[in-house]
Amino acid sequence: MDKIINIAMDGPVGAGKSSIARAVADRLNILHLDTGAMYRAVGLTAISRGVSVNDEEAVSALCKEITLTVEHHADGQHTLVDGRDVTGSLRTEEVSMAASRVATYPGVRAEMVAIQQRLAKTTSMLVDGRDIGTRVLPDATIKIFLTAQAEERARRRYVQLQEAGASDTFEQVLEDLRRRDDQDMNRKTDPLRVAEDAVVVDSTDCTFEQTVERILMLVEERIREKE
Ligand code: C5P
Repeated sequence: MDKIINIAMDGPVGAGKSSIARAVADRLNILHLDTGAMYRAVGLTAISRGVSVNDEEAVSALCKEITLTVEHHADGQHTLVDGRDVTGSLRTEEVSMAASRVATYPGVRAEMVAIQQRLAKTTSMLVDGRDIGTRVLPDATIKIFLTAQAEERARRRYVQLQEAGASDTFEQVLEDLRRRDDQDMNRKTDPLRVAEDAVVVDSTDCTFEQTVERILMLVEERIREKE
């Protein structure tokens, strides 16, 4: 069997992680696991079942009750809750905030981390999230921390939302992003931080393609070193 390659990619909201992760994984011909979608699916399920996202006990119990699975299709990752594909409902601001809230609960994180570790053990994949290098894949082949300045991240997110027909103003997007950054970096369990052995890639002044190329170069270099 070929050696398993695990790439850990972490970073704050709106650093372009999801789309960059997907492009890098495609170029390397490995799967891309979007762990944010898993926390989003938990947040969405809480909302749709009338469970308050502020009720840690109820959300943790809900998380144990449901079966969360991911499938990889030609158009990318599909996230399923009890067999129902919820992929199309995960990208609203309401679900973003709910995801960030439920992700502060240790009970929820333990369930998600276990699924992610199980998947990455047997398959080469690029895993993107917040705690991948620090918690999920401490022995990853390479750890990338992808970041950009907050205003630039908000600008990119704002453009995305506008394209999707949302009416949020830039100021709202920037404020939401700062709130989520704050929640992600200051939570007790596995907060977002740069793993000691991660390579920091700042994409503020880079195009999408430049960032993809830079990461591919870092990955290829690391694979060569390890051979
Ligand atoms: O990456 P994305 O914005 O889709 O993630 C949604 C939320 O899920 C994040 O704001 C973060 O709070 C949480 N998350 C996490 N750990 C991960 C992935 C996402 O806490 N590995």
